Amino acid sequence: MKANQERQKKNDPNRVEIYSHQIFNATSDIMKGLDKMSFQQSKDMIGKSLRQDYSILEQAAQQNQNKYTAEVAHQVQVDQSLQLIPCPYVKASSHKKYTLVLDLDETLLHYYEINEYDGDLRIRPGADDFLKSLSEYYEIIIFTAAMQDYADWALDHFQNKSCISYRLYRQHASPFGGFYVKDLSRIGRDISKTIIVDNIAENFQLQPENGIFIKSWFIDPQDTALLELAPLLISIAESNVNDVREALKLFRLHMLEQMAKGVMNPTMYLTQNIKEILKKYSESLSATETKLLEKNSQIKA
Ligand SMILES: [Mg+2]
Repeated sequence: MKANQERQKKNDPNRVEIYSHQIFNATSDIMKGLDKMSFQQSKDMIGKSLRQDYSILEQAAQQNQNKYTAEVAHQVQVDQSLQLIPCPYVKASSHKKYTLVLDLDETLLHYYEINEYDGDLRIRPGADDFLKSLSEYYEIIIFTAAMQDYADWALDHFQNKSCISYRLYRQHASPFGGFYVKDLSRIGRDISKTIIVDNIAENFQLQPENGIFIKSWFIDPQDTALLELAPLLISIAESNVNDVREALKLFRLHMLEQMAKGVMNPTMYLTQNIKEILKKYSESLSATETKLLEKNSQIKA
């Protein structure tokens, strides 16, 4: 009786369906496991291959980064007695209304010191194009805390080095608070028309309102920081702003607003709206001026 019941249960179509379902689920789990395993194996293999290819460069970049960080502090101690050369540093006249001061190391390029005798200089993606396109709008000045011999050698690697109007070096920087501060007031250009781009914000601590901090670049071939920055700088020049500090302040506020709204890439959003923002800025300035004029005429009357 019991055996018959068991036989019936096994032949029950519902029971077969349940078994099929269980087998299907078990197979799926195995397949999922296999997928995960294959994926992990592939990932490990790709990772291993990449690590082999890039390990030398990564090591060199890391060593150089550590050395660079150590050097900054060390150099300032060594060069506390550095005699500043008389300012202004550049000739009085410029045919460009605006000046763009650019840092060199980790902003436009990176030099990997593989060993004492050998190294590899790499130019940041888009840097050459950046120099060329921005030189149409700005007088370009390189301001580096590096030694002149190295800086000149490094700058000669740029195809568009002729776009650079002046080169300023360590002797032009002011050692202060553990950094080589780049004092824009010593350059000899109108501070309201000068922008500095540097990967160390402390380097422009004397004129923070004129500064744009750019992330340090060491090796990433996919880096787009200069590409993203160019439209902002071009728009400021094209919009003929009176004071670049006001325009940059506006951009910073706008970017913070976007971040507060949860915009994932406020920089990209910002570059799409630069002209609109500057237009509003000019309109608000005109409105303020008109109000002031009206107020003055009322007082006079
Ligand atoms: Mg730098």
